[in-house]
Amino acid sequence: MKADIVLINGEVITVDQMNTVVEAVAIRNNRIAVVGSNQEVKSFIGEKTDVIDLQGKTLLPGFIDSHIHLIFYGINQLAVSCKAEHIDSIEALLDDLKKKALETPKGEWIRAWGFNETAMKEKRYPTIDELDEISVEHPIIVSRTCGHISVVNSKALEIAQINKDTPNPNGGVFEKNQAGMLTGKLIEAANMGINEITSYTESELMKSVKIASEHFVAAGITSIHEAGGHGPESYRLLQQAIKSKDIRVRIYAMICQLNNSHEFVNKMIKAGVLTGTGDDRFKVGPVKLFTDGSSTGPTIATRESYSSDPNNYGILYYSEEEIYQILGEAHKKGYQITVHAQGDKAIEMYLNCVEKALEELPRKNHRHRIEHAGISSPDLQERMKKLEMIPIPNPPFPYEFGEIYVQHYGDRVNYMYAVRDYIDRGIMAAGGSDAPVTDFNPLLGIQVAVNRKSQSGMEFGVNQAIGVMEAIRLYTWNGAYASFEEEIKGSIEVGKLADLVILSDSILSVNPNQIKDLKVETTIIDGEIIYKREQSVKI
Ligand SMILES: [Zn+2]
Repeated sequence: MKADIVLINGEVITVDQMNTVVEAVAIRNNRIAVVGSNQEVKSFIGEKTDVIDLQGKTLLPGFIDSHIHLIFYGINQLAVSCKAEHIDSIEALLDDLKKKALETPKGEWIRAWGFNETAMKEKRYPTIDELDEISVEHPIIVSRTCGHISVVNSKALEIAQINKDTPNPNGGVFEKNQAGMLTGKLIEAANMGINEITSYTESELMKSVKIASEHFVAAGITSIHEAGGHGPESYRLLQQAIKSKDIRVRIYAMICQLNNSHEFVNKMIKAGVLTGTGDDRFKVGPVKLFTDGSSTGPTIATRESYSSDPNNYGILYYSEEEIYQILGEAHKKGYQITVHAQGDKAIEMYLNCVEKALEELPRKNHRHRIEHAGISSPDLQERMKKLEMIPIPNPPFPYEFGEIYVQHYGDRVNYMYAVRDYIDRGIMAAGGSDAPVTDFNPLLGIQVAVNRKSQSGMEFGVNQAIGVMEAIRLYTWNGAYASFEEEIKGSIEVGKLADLVILSDSILSVNPNQIKDLKVETTIIDGEIIYKREQSVKI
């Protein structure tokens, strides 16, 4: 039997149990057929075999991003990006919004995403008056980079039927000025509500998920855990796009919705759409609740007050009883469960719930997760180990937000995204970018997990630094484990799905501070070359 594709002369990092590095791989159909030396694969080369000479470059299992928002990232690509280099001031942002208003039919939404007030010259948010000056005939929304806070204009408030007398939702605030007038700033649950209303057309959605998938594949990502947030329609959209091959990455889709996450989860539990339903291209993931806020907002729920404000302990969406009611039930029904929990208070409340649920109904191999697990104090880690939890830290966060974290959380940064501790304690953790919150490039995630340095070079809790091999595992095998799929992917081993990525150089030889600058040359999914960078060499 001859192979379809043979890759030789490589630095093949298999991510098997022994971290074996070999020279060559052969692929037949959509599976890995042989892993070994150049000599061992030679006999599988036939007339029709595509032979790729890796020239010493790295071949890895396709990256798995265990927490990313494909739909969010996609729709952002259609909007004004506040992350664009030229938007360094409110003035520049307003200019771009003005241009967008000129080309957008009246009544349709004008959206901007990725806003970060600390990156603006004025160090503030735009005001509702400034947005109204751009247009009162278009609804306008400027979303913060964290996705938890936004500023809108009067038209948007009108459409959402929010006025100065509207009561604040649980876990959210419609900000008002001293005169009691709405400022347009919507915080946490108040913001989640309007996100649902900012509706997109079907063709906008299809276009955006296609762009997102293409960008992810070009970064070597072959599987994602979709952290979602868009409610029921999003599952139809994703499945449709998978079927039409507009989406090429494999998806493990969390059951969640940003707005009123508990209501949605309850409905889905009743409907009985169970974790693991689906196939290797689209599978139903865990049910997920939002329990606290954003690490940069800052709105995460902490046990001690913020270092920047002795009166601030962040925002909680639910009480412990409420979390237990919903997730305890899901646990009993056989779901994998998870929460968005960034602060140590939120993590602690969730662990109490998991502990109680497991006492009432012990379940082996439940693989319950914690999304982000930002401030992961030693006592919480100990409980995670005992309860066999899977935290999903975000290694690249300190790159963009390191300085903000030090300001708000002080010494607590020494156990934020605590990957060294997880490995040392034998806690299984998988890495996620949380894009569009931050860059999805897995090589950036690997670099920051290794050097724990921010963009400006500031060291950030370096006690949590890990080795390159360990970091690769966070983005491959461990991600497969977090979705119960380690039997079929996550490493380069015979019989597994042929999801592979070729880098532009050897990741084990490059300066660890330059890992993010390596390029992805080729991405293979299901035995098919899906992406090829132009300069890549192929015989
Ligand atoms: Zn997220």
